[in-house]
Amino acid sequence: MIIVMVRGAAEEHVNQVIKEVQDLGYSPHLLRGTERNVIACIGDERGKYRIQALESLPDVERVVPILRPYKLADIETRPERTEIDIGGVKLGGMELQVIAGPCSVESEEQILETAEAVKASGAKFLRGGAFKPRTSPYEFRGLAEEGLELLALAREKTGLKIVTELMDPHHLDLVAEKTDIIQIGARNCQNFPLLDSVGDLDMPVLLKRGWSTTLREFLMAAEYILSRGNPNVILCERGIRTFESEYRNVLDLNSVPALRSMSHLPVIVDPSHGTGRQDLVIPMARAAVAAGADGLMIEVHPHPDRALSDGPQSLRPERFDILMREIARIAGAVDRTLTLGG
Ligand code: PEP
Ligand code: MN
Repeated sequence: MIIVMVRGAAEEHVNQVIKEVQDLGYSPHLLRGTERNVIACIGDERGKYRIQALESLPDVERVVPILRPYKLADIETRPERTEIDIGGVKLGGMELQVIAGPCSVESEEQILETAEAVKASGAKFLRGGAFKPRTSPYEFRGLAEEGLELLALAREKTGLKIVTELMDPHHLDLVAEKTDIIQIGARNCQNFPLLDSVGDLDMPVLLKRGWSTTLREFLMAAEYILSRGNPNVILCERGIRTFESEYRNVLDLNSVPALRSMSHLPVIVDPSHGTGRQDLVIPMARAAVAAGADGLMIEVHPHPDRALSDGPQSLRPERFDILMREIARIAGAVDRTLTLGG
């Protein structure tokens, strides 16, 4: 059930509702909006009549049921879109955000060179994996702690915000300390203990869609994080697996408008993993922006031919610069802004 407060409701009345909800054995989630506050009540649907009775409390406008199972992610619960503030940079608003960098952090030289280049083109976020999920145990699995240190160094030198993947709840503190956004990879989209662990944090989480998760399952995965009290979830479409074998994945751009109609959470698109081919990245980045994405994640490497992971889908910095210029033009056509570098 959701309890919608009247516009300008007194704080003490909001608190009173929260307390009554708790007393009824429900867990209240206060969603603050610029227009009005809403309290989502999560608990046994059988007691919904008792929540309904709270409609008589002061400053309560109405009490309405939430019908879909992803209650906190549901756009019905929060009609205003969620904007996430990452150290002063907003994701989910008017400004399109771009996260760029190598698949894996490989060396100081590689990460610093990439960071400087993507910053010069206008990206505000640097990505790079320190703990890499690889299909084969014999492949490069990341520099681990050393990789996190190198990301922190790049942050210090460039001021870029950092995005890196967490694979194991044991590394939670280590990763949380060195990054601005924690990435949960496609392989872990439904790793529920891992989702719970980031749900207990107060920092942004970039959740990638599993290659065989439906949108409903994807939103239920986000719900795991939201239900623990962390509202800062960014959804990332990164392609799904189909019968087509010309490319690594099929970038499902239907999901962009579909997710935005189902949920208030920001949606970004990763055309690098979504195609697996560097020649397809720029056109699909343009399409993602046209489809309404709030941002993009792009793999960039100074020497893709020497990359230790995902070289074939990585752009050289010069091509990334072209991508930025091209998407800036599309952004203007869909009422978004993108600040270019240089
Ligand atoms: C990545 O971002 O490098 C990655 C491993 O992506 P995904 O989880 O989408 O496969
Ligand atoms: Mn990769």
